[in-house]
Amino acid sequence: MTERELPIHHRAEDPGGRVWSFGSVTWVHCPECDKAAKSDGSTVSCMHCGYTTVPDLKPYSDKWAYPTSSNPLCSHCRKPLDRRERPTAREIDGKLFVRICCEHCGETEDYPASPGSPPSGGRSWRVLRRYLETQVAGETLWVLNLAHLNALEDWLGAKVRERGPQPGLTMMARLPRWMKASTNREKVLRGLAILRERAEKEGIDE
Ligand SMILES: [Zn+2]
Ligand SMILES: [Zn+2]
Repeated sequence: MTERELPIHHRAEDPGGRVWSFGSVTWVHCPECDKAAKSDGSTVSCMHCGYTTVPDLKPYSDKWAYPTSSNPLCSHCRKPLDRRERPTAREIDGKLFVRICCEHCGETEDYPASPGSPPSGGRSWRVLRRYLETQVAGETLWVLNLAHLNALEDWLGAKVRERGPQPGLTMMARLPRWMKASTNREKVLRGLAILRERAEKEGIDE
C-alpha cells in the first residue's frame, strides 16, 4: 500500500442532501461470488460472475431461501454460516438449495434450503452486505458508492466545516460523533483511503 497524503484541507461546506442522494448505486457483496456487485435498489448485478437478480419483483419471490439447518456449518471449514434469507435459491432435482459463500474461508457451496421471501419493500442493500466497509476506531465505516466516498472525504478532511444552504438534518449533520471527532480525523480518512483502494482494485467505477 502506497502511503498517500491524507486529504486534510481547510474548509468545507455541507453539500446538503441525504445519504441516498450521493450516487445512484450501492456496491454490495455478490450473493454468488462475493465480489463487488452493483445494486440500484431493485436489481443486483455482478460484473464478475454475471449474476443478476430482481429481488423486489413478485415473480422472483420464490427464488429467495434460507438454509434449512438451524445451525448451518460451512462444509469446508465447519464454521457457522449465517441463516439470513438470500435471493439465490435454485432447484436441483426438485430440492431447493441456496448458494452461500463462507465468510470465514471463502468457499462457495450449495446448501439445502427452505423457501423464503424477499424483504418487504426490500431495498436490496439492507439484505446484501455492503461492499465498501471497514473498521475504524472500533466502529464500522461504510460508503454506498464513490460519490458518497468523495463527499465524506471532502467533509471529514476539512478542519472547518460550515453549514451549507440546506437546513435540517442533512447526511453530514447526521454523521455519528466518532466520525466527526477531530481526534479521529486521520483514522477515518485512512479508512476512506482503504475503501478507495479496494474500490479501484475491484473495478468499482461509480
Ligand atoms: Zn458475482
Ligand atoms: Zn468455510
